[in-house]
Amino acid sequence: SSWWSGVQMGPPDAILGVTEAFKRDTNPNKINLGVGAYRDDNGKPYVLPCVRKAEDQLRAKNLDKEYSPISGTPEFCKHSIELALSENSDVIKNGLNATVQGISGTGSLRVGAAFLNGFFPGNKVVYLPTPSWGNHTPIFKHAGLDVKSYKYYDAKTCGLDFQGALDDISKMPEKSIILLHACAHNPTGVDPNQEQWAELSQLVKKRNLYVFFDMAYQGFATGSVDNDAFAVRQFIKDGHQICLAQSYAKNMGLYGERAGAFTVVGPSKEEADRVMSQLKILIRALYSNPPINGARIVTEILSDPKLKSDWLQEVKGMADRIISVRTKLRDNLKKEGSSRNWEHITNQIGMFCFTGMIPEQVEKLIKEHSVYLTKDGRISMAGVTSKNVEYLAHAMHEVTK
Ligand code: PMP
Repeated sequence: SSWWSGVQMGPPDAILGVTEAFKRDTNPNKINLGVGAYRDDNGKPYVLPCVRKAEDQLRAKNLDKEYSPISGTPEFCKHSIELALSENSDVIKNGLNATVQGISGTGSLRVGAAFLNGFFPGNKVVYLPTPSWGNHTPIFKHAGLDVKSYKYYDAKTCGLDFQGALDDISKMPEKSIILLHACAHNPTGVDPNQEQWAELSQLVKKRNLYVFFDMAYQGFATGSVDNDAFAVRQFIKDGHQICLAQSYAKNMGLYGERAGAFTVVGPSKEEADRVMSQLKILIRALYSNPPINGARIVTEILSDPKLKSDWLQEVKGMADRIISVRTKLRDNLKKEGSSRNWEHITNQIGMFCFTGMIPEQVEKLIKEHSVYLTKDGRISMAGVTSKNVEYLAHAMHEVTK
């Protein structure tokens, strides 16, 4: 016998399992729409030109490999929070934020979850939208928090269940935690509009809830980093003391570099300093200090005006390609003769489209057409190109007619 004979086989990751099945498929027309990573119009991974340039500049500097500070470099943290709140944010001017580098979005959420579990004075319950990114529940539970849900997506319209969300938020016990996707909601691609955000902000305030923003796609939704930060900035304007997880995986294409940030906004610099001291103690025990390479690339881009303007163009280029391929998919479904209403394909935004296809249709799509996606009917728009969109539309029509 062994120490681990009692360890049971765990289930494979739902999304990475899709990729495994895709790899085994020999159909030359196969398409992988499972994974949420941007692809160019040839279906190839895309390294942003500004990232390549930043890497060249960094190489020329011949930097050492010393440890980063526990919280990441001050420059990285400053640029990150400025990107979220804008450069002339009063929060930043007055030192009201405690910002640390996290290990991309996931690690930032995890550090935030650990901080809330240790110090949140209210109900240690996080309310997630239904549905939410599949990793939210395990991240918060792993940190010791309880997870509950609020209505968000309306399967009938493939859009926002705004009334349902308002109803559920009204019923949350005061001093609970609510998680909001700042933009490009994953997996649904459904975001509140600006008026709805403003209304949500008022209600959340009235309920005295603590807001945890997950901003994994700033710039990736509309193509503008400022537009995409609307919700976060609106809540700050309305006086919410939020916390925020950011990721550079999608908007800079730095997936494997694991660069992100976690911020707590408070009422005073003195409080921010105390919060910062505890974040450092948590991080020290979790992974000691963050990886340096991705954070250096981010800092190089955001601190160099030329690189930054290149980046803003390039992130817009990615968002625009996705928006245009949404239209192409909808047009092609119409051309196929589909009588279904596919308007939500173009109403939704960001990396994903929640197609409304049911599990049996998804299974057919995979088995009969070699189009790979998750069971919930979510497709990564980033995997759709001008070359495969006709094939995809045909396949979707075949399984939904
Ligand atoms: N939050 C959401 C909603 C996401 O979709 C993702 C990426 N799939 C993340 C956080 C974090 O991703 P990463 O750790 O790669 O930055």
